[in-house]
Amino acid sequence: MDLGEAVEAIKSRLSLKEVVSRYVVLKPAGRGRWKGLCPFHQEKTPSFYVDEEKGLFHCFGCKAGGDLIAFVERLEGLDFLGAVERLAEEAGLEITQKGKPQGKRELLDVLKLAQAYFLEGLRASKEAQAYLASRGLSQESIARFGLGYAPPAADGLLTFLAQRGIPPEEGARAGVLSEREGRFHDRLRHRITFPIKDRLGRIVAFTGRALGDETPKYLNTPETPLFRKREVLFAYPEAKEALRRGRAIVVEGLFDAIALHQMGFSETVAVLGSGLSEEQAALLKAQEVREVYLAFDADEAGQKATLQSLNLELAKKFLFYAVRLPAKDPGELLLLPDGPALFQKALEEALPEVDFRFQEAAKGLDLNRPEHRRKVLLALAPRMLSPEPFDPVAERLKALVVERLGLSARELADFLRSLKRGSPPPSPPPKTEPKNRVLLLELDVIALLLSLPPERFGEGVRRVADQVWPPEGSLLAEFLELAQKEPRRDYLRQVLSRKEAGGILLEKLLLVRSPEDPRFGERLEKTLARLREAYFLERRQKLKEALRQNPADLELLKEIHELDQAIEAERRIYRGLG
Ligand SMILES: [Zn+2]
Repeated sequence: MDLGEAVEAIKSRLSLKEVVSRYVVLKPAGRGRWKGLCPFHQEKTPSFYVDEEKGLFHCFGCKAGGDLIAFVERLEGLDFLGAVERLAEEAGLEITQKGKPQGKRELLDVLKLAQAYFLEGLRASKEAQAYLASRGLSQESIARFGLGYAPPAADGLLTFLAQRGIPPEEGARAGVLSEREGRFHDRLRHRITFPIKDRLGRIVAFTGRALGDETPKYLNTPETPLFRKREVLFAYPEAKEALRRGRAIVVEGLFDAIALHQMGFSETVAVLGSGLSEEQAALLKAQEVREVYLAFDADEAGQKATLQSLNLELAKKFLFYAVRLPAKDPGELLLLPDGPALFQKALEEALPEVDFRFQEAAKGLDLNRPEHRRKVLLALAPRMLSPEPFDPVAERLKALVVERLGLSARELADFLRSLKRGSPPPSPPPKTEPKNRVLLLELDVIALLLSLPPERFGEGVRRVADQVWPPEGSLLAEFLELAQKEPRRDYLRQVLSRKEAGGILLEKLLLVRSPEDPRFGERLEKTLARLREAYFLERRQKLKEALRQNPADLELLKEIHELDQAIEAERRIYRGLG
């Protein structure tokens, strides 16, 4: 099928609400509507709405909005085609496009085959099974996380893939085979395999863990078009549910993550590199995580280094804690009878970032001396003066400062205000909303038309085209022309969502009555009357100006008089209609 068909098929097969709720926690907001915290800007109260029936999302805060494709485009940083491809794959559709390699799809298939090969490898290897058992992993954990085993043969996977029609080049592109001097071989050999999944739960890479002392201990398959280390969190699909309770535990080892899940800490995820990237933080934010426990280090120095190295942008998003691990790695806790209790204790004793910040600011100072207290205040002020409406760290830090410095909340607020006054006020956000009445009314009409079911759309367009005469170059003129030429509603939405007016249109679309509503027709009539009036008023304004140049022009006078009558007639229509 072609792209246009694919877009329509995607929308009929996939639910917008379902796709959105992978990234945003949605709560019901009235018939067919859902709301949640906007993934495109930071907010404390939900202004992000999804209208399942209309297939649209819209944020009343940042004005982001559009359809399913636009959502995926924006959230995943894809272009239109990329988003369509991703969704088509999910919907089980094939898009045929000349000259377009269907790369990612095939890579995913190769990785799926590799996973089958590794699972079979584990079934056949007593040694690998014994190794996993010696680490204390249960059968459930092994199955849940899809652990496998890559046998020692250099061409095992190579052959397995070849038998299924996958050329070695494809296996190399997927990262599971490597190439040296034109010869291909298995990248992972004699290693436990951990499938790395993306946020949708699809395998995008593997990590192999040596069974013995071979180096490197962990070996990742390389980054590919599907896999970027900083964009994935190991165990994220498995942790999603638990993350929604608001807390995340972040570890560095894959075994550690599985061990913690097995011990009941199912909000655990693991980073594959070091530290937490912005992309990974966004994954956590999407599940409404507020507190992040970084369980990276076993000593105090490491704990502090972890907090010190926190990226400031990230630090605004969560309350961070550094956990001091009770063992060298949490995986070892699995083998201890009181392992879960030890880890629980470590969580409770974790060092909060705010305490750490305070300790750092107060280092070497005597808090009994007013000038030293002032130093601490000044050092912490930038972090307390947060531009974000909801900044958990700023709030906690203020509470801590009040307590430790013996200030009242009022005194602290006054102090911070005095600092703020010294700096230029933040510039107001640019207003993009056109104040233009005509444009707003045109958008009303367009929203009403777009809310019609497809079989009534053409008729609605003709009816409007018969009743208003938008001036050339206006948005409505352009819309009616397009709609009559190509009565495909999605196409029109696509065009409109790219216009400056798109945000307002989406807002209106979400607010529009259902065409089933008995007052829908009346609403359309009234809006058309108001729009005609607005066109007449614009025209009248122009004529008035012309009349000022030629006060004796009788033609002009006559036309203005006619316009006045027409305007009065329109007013009677929209006032008279109830
Ligand atoms: Zn928003």
